[in-house]
Amino acid sequence: MYKSPRIGHGYDVHAFTAGDGLWLGGVRIEHDQGVTAHSDGDVVLHALMDALLGAAGLGDIGQHFPDHDARYRDAASGDLLQDVLQKIRAQGLGVVNVDITVIAQAPRLGPHREAMVRSMAQLLQLDENRVNLKATTHEGLGALGRGEGIAAHAVALLEDVD
Ligand code: MG
Repeated sequence: MYKSPRIGHGYDVHAFTAGDGLWLGGVRIEHDQGVTAHSDGDVVLHALMDALLGAAGLGDIGQHFPDHDARYRDAASGDLLQDVLQKIRAQGLGVVNVDITVIAQAPRLGPHREAMVRSMAQLLQLDENRVNLKATTHEGLGALGRGEGIAAHAVALLEDVD
């Protein structure tokens, strides 16, 4: 059977709300706001999981972890990611690399970039040079530009491991 790599894309956004920090890439980052979410609201891991599921042809995280399901209330996204990786491995697929872009006016991610990459590399069991993280502001445009929330895009490449 012909085998070929598979690419997937994921996107997620969460609104800011009163709070004292947020989870990003499996790392808790102190901030003067939190995010509205059913789970831990880790917008980076949510986008990443959708990219992985997309590449594997397995739908999206809403299908696998419905937000009306009490089991996923305050769920740790790192745990959900392990579940997603199991589903991908069950298809005979492994992760080649991932590339993520976070869009937010704040917090600034520069000081947290290394920790976030390390965290995601550990979660994905990949070398850190296969996990790329980029961050940009929204140049003051629209809701993200007004600092009302935080968004993330992710792409992931999978390959056959059999
Ligand atoms: Mg989300």
